[in-house]
Amino acid sequence: MIPRPTYQRDAATAAIVHFGVGGFHRAHQATYLDTLLSVDPAAGDWGIVGVGLRPADAAMRDALLPQDCLYTLTLKHPDGAVATGVLGAIFGYLYAPDDPEAVIERLADPRTRIVSLTITEGGYNIVAATGEFDAGDPDVVSDLVPGAVPRTVFGYLTEALRRRRDRGLPAFTVMSCDNIEGNGDVARRTVGAFARLVDPELADWIETNVRFPNSMIDRITPATPPELRSEVLARTGIDDRWPVVAEPFTQWVLEDSFSHGRPALETVGVQVVPDVRPYELMKLRLLNAGHQALGHFARLLGYTYVHDAAADPDIRELLRRYMLDEAGPTLDSLPGVDVDDYVATLLERFSNPAIADTVARLCLDASDRIPKFLLPVIASRADEGAAAPLAAAVVAAWTRCAEGVADDGVPLELSDRRAPELIDRARRSRADRLAFVADPDLFGDLAEHPEFTEPYLAALDGLRERGTRAVLAELIR
Ligand code: NAD
Repeated sequence: MIPRPTYQRDAATAAIVHFGVGGFHRAHQATYLDTLLSVDPAAGDWGIVGVGLRPADAAMRDALLPQDCLYTLTLKHPDGAVATGVLGAIFGYLYAPDDPEAVIERLADPRTRIVSLTITEGGYNIVAATGEFDAGDPDVVSDLVPGAVPRTVFGYLTEALRRRRDRGLPAFTVMSCDNIEGNGDVARRTVGAFARLVDPELADWIETNVRFPNSMIDRITPATPPELRSEVLARTGIDDRWPVVAEPFTQWVLEDSFSHGRPALETVGVQVVPDVRPYELMKLRLLNAGHQALGHFARLLGYTYVHDAAADPDIRELLRRYMLDEAGPTLDSLPGVDVDDYVATLLERFSNPAIADTVARLCLDASDRIPKFLLPVIASRADEGAAAPLAAAVVAAWTRCAEGVADDGVPLELSDRRAPELIDRARRSRADRLAFVADPDLFGDLAEHPEFTEPYLAALDGLRERGTRAVLAELIR
């Protein structure tokens, strides 16, 4: 028998409104609050009212409302163990197109103290090339018409904050939990930019009164596979219309910056800190760059799944040494964080077959990822007068993938918005050896630094002449 939440659940009292109730929110933030509500009777108001803005969210409404917004989370462990629990921190759900005014009033309600977001990277409506708010987006244009019924999160937040200001109520906190570097800063910039277009005085009030904490969030949560519902039913007897599955690992580092109070999240494992940045760097250089270190070699060796590649002893050792010898020394030490343990946990997470993450997904848009995650390690090592030959070899493996053939001769397709130029540069690098890394947009001036180019070219030559297996063996010898 799976226990159900025993705490009081009343949507009218919930102090958090959340936009973007998808798999990740239900596997992450909502689980911390579920634990808090279970252990601390004084935390009773920190329940969540979910809000969906997009047509696809009607399905979440139809799944959650008939089951009183209760749902199951199934954790799949690397050793094959499976555990399912029933979570209750979501007290209510509003599908905004059903009643936009109800959503605005829920946000403007004095009881609402935090508005949290997992609206995806694209939800912040930023022009990639400039980093500026895209005021030309058709939904934004529609929301800027005076008196319009909002369509975007910006429209809802701004109108609700206007009402709060006019009613003399304190502002709520806007807490982004999306996977974006400086997510709170991005939310502050985009909400501020929209509000300024609506009403500059209101924008000033928001700037002064609304806090936008940054956060580092981590738990791999795949989209719900179609077979999960029957699997959960067979194992637990619970027929959940939209169950969630995730890995057991979870982390949430949150900047302590709130406009109108916050739950005592530190009592349930959230690291509430003054500055999230060093934690974010650790994740980017170990987890995200680690994915790159694994992905391109794994593609050349013909692996489909991340867990199979992570079990390959050569790849695993390369990954471990990249993380410990090259990335680790570039990170500031953090209280309570042991990098060796973090790396061991990452290797275990990458090896989890139940997550079934694909190598192709890791290598997608590498031209966005390598410059953000891996190259800063090379640059930071160079600043210290140290080399990063393993990171340089990862760039060589990427170059080799852009040549379009795996070691066994199978063609490799490059899924990258810069694919044509990457393929062209990789082809030219046969004669003009540094052609791939001579693009300043991606590599800055790295092509002029022998501490990078020497190990890079050695690895690239080796991959072409002796193959991936031989190069990996040489790198980890
Ligand atoms: P999901 O597809 O299950 O849910 C996404 C939700 O965002 C949906 O409710 C959708 O309607 C909403 N949304 C999308 N675009 C929007 C927009 N423009 N305006 C308002 N709402 C919008 O996805 P998920 O797995 O829950 O992931 C959501 C986000 O969480 C990711 O984009 C990422 O930033 C973060 N995250 C996810 C994971 C993970 O492993 N899934 C891990 C860390 C962080």
